[in-house]
Amino acid sequence: MSLEGWPGHIWLEGRTPVHLQNHQPRPSHMPRGPATKTGEGFLNPAMAPSRTRSVLLLADAIEHGWLVDDDKTIRILDALCATAVRTRRWRNEVPGQERLKITANDLDTNAIDWAKKSHIEHPIGDNKKWEIEASRFEKESRGEVIDGINWVVGDARSLMVETPFQWIDLDPFGSPVDFLDAAIQSLSRVGLLDVTATDTAALCGSAKTSAARRYGAVGILDSYMHDDAVRILLGTIARIAAMHDKVIHPVLSLFDGHHVRVSVILRRSKEAASDFLENIGYRIRGEPYYFDAIPTGEYSGPMWTGPLFDAEIAKRMTVERALELCAVREEDLISDWDERDIEHSKRELERTVRYISDCADLLSKEHVLYAVDDLGVMAGIGQIPATKAILAEIKSLGYEAERTHTPDTMIATNAPHKDVIEAVKSASAK
Ligand code: SAH
Repeated sequence: MSLEGWPGHIWLEGRTPVHLQNHQPRPSHMPRGPATKTGEGFLNPAMAPSRTRSVLLLADAIEHGWLVDDDKTIRILDALCATAVRTRRWRNEVPGQERLKITANDLDTNAIDWAKKSHIEHPIGDNKKWEIEASRFEKESRGEVIDGINWVVGDARSLMVETPFQWIDLDPFGSPVDFLDAAIQSLSRVGLLDVTATDTAALCGSAKTSAARRYGAVGILDSYMHDDAVRILLGTIARIAAMHDKVIHPVLSLFDGHHVRVSVILRRSKEAASDFLENIGYRIRGEPYYFDAIPTGEYSGPMWTGPLFDAEIAKRMTVERALELCAVREEDLISDWDERDIEHSKRELERTVRYISDCADLLSKEHVLYAVDDLGVMAGIGQIPATKAILAEIKSLGYEAERTHTPDTMIATNAPHKDVIEAVKSASAK
């Protein structure tokens, strides 16, 4: 990639104009899948939902003060930023910019040049400047601040070793394992780590040898493989965190189409880190499964067996909030966008956060997941009733039950197995 081809053609992601290369097709509004066509290091439109959720999470941390005190700034790093679409969206769409010091880094000079040029071409307009602090080793600080973003070209690992951050985003192609250790060491006493993994074959357990090497885990290719993937990545982060006297608190952990994305708060505590194995175990298949510290029978893991969400934070990740912060406004419009584009981008925003706030309570405590497709066999009925009807029946028995955001339709509930089966049968009899 080079600046050859600049300016390419302009697209809006969230409220932010991005320059696509000429050979990149105009994205469909709900693109899915890996970046095979767009090429590594450029921009994968299918990652838009993940970037939108990152805007929402950062805005939430500032508004509700759950990461640093209200008057403090958050030093945030987009460690593998490529053309910095995520970084520029933080800068453009997150309210409370005075509380942010944003750094964008990539090894690829051309990607950073393209990113900087995009940023200069579409300035934020508040003329924000800030001083880059000296690094840990009193080395000269790296990069240059342009319109509120510090731009660095280099190896993310060496930058993270030299400089402390409170929020680090790792969005590599493939596995994030190369970067976890450095990121966890870089984070302050309390910090947020956002991690993407696109090596889903390893995390789901179909690529057995890479699963063993990278994550020390085994998988089973059944309805739980996506939840396993999320939990295996969390388990790996928890283990590395423990090595550095840190514990994780998952805020939002998702399997989204072709990648896993987990956001965790890391906190330094030797005592708590000593107990990290309490939340590590195996998923033992049965009716339908349970977690145990010891593998027996048919199992996947080891993996994180604790909560996946922070209830309060996830509950605020609503459609209203997504539209409020990220929906295109009149002043953002680019020339070739019409009403249909605006409507489609709103629908994509809705899909981005769908079900998250609904299942926030359940996914932040003990629950059991059921794939709706499995319930027919489990309940011994031919035709599986509508998901809504099953949920209503479980709730009428006095339990909680919600659909989750997983790619295939799944239900999370705190009802005992026999009651879930009863509920499915009565929904089917109606
Ligand atoms: N976060 C981007 C996509 C990143 S793609 C987005 O939202 O669009 C992965 C990027 O990691 C590539 O641009 C690649 O150049 C960069 N990369 C790979 N190894 C790196 C390293 N050691 N340090 C910094 N960047 C690296």
